[in-house]
Amino acid sequence: MQCKVCKCEMRITNGKIVTEGDNSPDTPTKVYRELEYRCRAKQCPEYDKVQAVQRVELT
Ligand SMILES: [Zn+2]
Repeated sequence: MQCKVCKCEMRITNGKIVTEGDNSPDTPTKVYRELEYRCRAKQCPEYDKVQAVQRVELT
């Protein structure tokens, strides 16, 4: 994924762990890790800001 300002390829960092469905016994609990996409260009105004978050299911 590219930075929307400078178009460089963003770096991915591990964000928080998210769980879903654990407040109902009928739905299986799913656990996700959120990956954060941040611009890596120091001269960019978006540098080190999270521009996108992607959820990856943990098994
Ligand atoms: Zn950028």
